Amino acid sequence: MTRTTPPRPLDVTAVFPELTALARTTTRLHPRPGTPTVHESSVAGPLLWPADEPWPVCPDDHTSSYYRTLQSLDDVRRYRQLLDDAWARPQFTAEEHAELDRLRAGHPSDRVDPAVPLLPIAQLYARDTPGFNGPDGCDLLQVLWCPFEHGDEALPGVQLRWRRADDVAALLTDPPAPFLVEHDDYVPEACVVHPEQVREYPAPHELPGGLRERIRVWEDAEGLVYQYELGVATGWKLGGWAPWSFRDPSPEICGVCDAVMQPFLYVDSSEWDGNDSWRPLEDADEHQADHRYPHVPTRVEIGRSYGMQIYTCPTSHDHPLSTVTQ
Ligand SMILES: [Zn+2]
Ligand SMILES: [Zn+2]
Repeated sequence: MTRTTPPRPLDVTAVFPELTALARTTTRLHPRPGTPTVHESSVAGPLLWPADEPWPVCPDDHTSSYYRTLQSLDDVRRYRQLLDDAWARPQFTAEEHAELDRLRAGHPSDRVDPAVPLLPIAQLYARDTPGFNGPDGCDLLQVLWCPFEHGDEALPGVQLRWRRADDVAALLTDPPAPFLVEHDDYVPEACVVHPEQVREYPAPHELPGGLRERIRVWEDAEGLVYQYELGVATGWKLGGWAPWSFRDPSPEICGVCDAVMQPFLYVDSSEWDGNDSWRPLEDADEHQADHRYPHVPTRVEIGRSYGMQIYTCPTSHDHPLSTVTQ
């Protein structure tokens, strides 16, 4: 099934022609629970990974998590299964209560892997994502992360891999996985994706002051919210504009070459928000969905229902990425 973003309430460039030059195309991924294969684009699906290439591990120190009890990856999945199984029933059974308590209790953190194997987060084939901008000849992007807190923003530690799918001969069929995770919110559910391109315009935070003020006055008169209904799409997406919200924007600067980094993959906590503006037409009746949480298909949550914008350097794919909560 495809996913179709509803048309915008109006063409905002007809009102503010100076936005025309600022238009960008983003690819909304529209992840939905499923069982993707290594030969398909996915969120948190299996990766097309060469058998003879080491699986990536996190280089960071995780000893700060040693003061906590942590859930295992298996516990996170079992916990979600229990919640899903009980969804249509009035209450948990006594046995389920006991198991939920055991799962919540977690494990001693001295069982953290010495080198944490990363989790697959996204795999995108160029054929599915127009505007795919990989290094020469690469037609496959793989995104992985470490499900622990990293840096000042306590975000998962992200790594990217670019490759040519045809170069992968023998496949790694049983990739390693972390035993413990610091956040169940950093454990995504496997999803198939339904890529769709949509047009975006910058968040007001990134517009010149005069234009921003004229839009603000116009919003009040029209009863529309530019950013959330006309500007920046919600949900997991590739490229486009960053969804600045609670913080003042500042350019992300490449630490190697000083270039202004560009929004790459955005990992959102939900696919659409309260006003439903970006909710796909196919999801209009959420009861048709065969799962419990139609707007949070990946079960990833960044901060308090924010998202993580991954930035990359336009100069070189070899320069380090950066991540910002937005
Ligand atoms: Zn890590
Ligand atoms: Zn750079």
